[in-house]
Formats: sequence, structure tokens, C-alpha cells
Amino acid sequence: MKRKLVFATNNQHKLEEVSQILGNKIELLSLKDINCDVDIPETADTLEGNALLKAQYIYNNYGLNAFADDTGLEIEALNNEPGIYSARYAGEDKNSKANMLKVLQNLKGKTNRKAQFRTAISLILNGEEYLFEGIVKGQIIEEERGGAGFGYDPIFMPDGYDKTFAELGNDIKNTISHRALAIKKLCEFFY
Ligand code: IMP
Repeated sequence: MKRKLVFATNNQHKLEEVSQILGNKIELLSLKDINCDVDIPETADTLEGNALLKAQYIYNNYGLNAFADDTGLEIEALNNEPGIYSARYAGEDKNSKANMLKVLQNLKGKTNRKAQFRTAISLILNGEEYLFEGIVKGQIIEEERGGAGFGYDPIFMPDGYDKTFAELGNDIKNTISHRALAIKKLCEFFY
């Protein structure tokens, strides 16, 4: 029988990315699938803490095994900013374009363009907590390139490639991304 797991998100991009990686081994349920329309507060000061808050909310309120992720773009020359503030770096309206512009502005004139995407996944399985992490290292380029993906994809070039995530497209991105690595660890845990 397929294992049911709630992925505590309604982000369609992420649901597609994750279900592509999980394949048909696990029945993935979104917040919408379980009729949860609460915007679960992310009030912790780490990615791990925020992921845990979201997974715990589902487990405690719905009694379902659940996992949640939290991702941040960590830029070396900016003291690992935007980090937990990645979604709302340029303001509460969570505008990707404005976020990218702020990053490019803050990096103007800096030679160190090193950055990493880091994903923390918290899984609550029968009341036990498990943590998984995925990191992809790369560089912030000087301008936006490419039309695929979301968030900071157009300005992030992963090490070993000469294209941004937004140019590489989802098929390649989903094999090498921070979230892919964290999800793979989650999968390995189950099989
Ligand atoms: P979340 O925790 O996955 O919601 O990610 C927080 C923010 O980090 C998002 O709103 C995006 O701005 C950024 N982000 C997360 N994952 C990615 C990605 O795969 N590509 C580009 N930006 C991302």
C-alpha cells in the first residue's frame, strides 16, 4: 500500500518538483488536499526551526504524518543573507523580481559571488522528528538569465554549470537542486 504523507505546502512549483523526485512510491498530499487553508506561522530563526513548526502543525492538528521544507539562499559576502528572509527579502509582498534586484544591488562591486541554496526538511513520522538537509553551492551572476523555475533561479549558477537554474530548466534542476538532495535523503529514509 502506498504511504500517505502530507507535504505542508501549497506551492505548486514545489509540489511538482517533489512529486517528480518521489515518483509513485509515496502518495503526496498538499495542504489543499487535506483542506488546510491556514498560513502556518514561520516564526523560528533558523530554516530547521521553521520546517519543524510547519510539520508539527499538521501532525498535531490533523494527526497525519507530514513533512515540511524551508529553504534559504545564503550569500557568503552578505553574511549568509537573505537566509530565512529569502521569500520577503525586499518586502512582505514576496516579489521575486524585487528580491533578485536587492541581491544584485547589495552585491554590486563585490568580487565574492559565492552562494548556496540550503533546504531543511523536517519529517514527523508517528510523533518522531527527523531532519534532512540539502545544499547546492554556486555563484550569483551579474544579471538575470533564463525563464524557467522560480524565486532566485535566474541569478543562481550552480557550480559545474555555465547556466543558471532558470536556464537549465526543471528536469536538470530537479536532479541537482538543494531541495532534490534533501528530498532524496527523505526518500532513502523510507526505502
Ligand atoms: P521556501 O522555504 O521554499 O518557501 O523558500 C523561501 C524562498 O527562497 C522562496 O520564496 C524563494 O524566494 C527562495 N527559493 C526557495 N527555493 C528556491 C529555488 O529552488 N530556486 C530559487 N529560489 C528559491
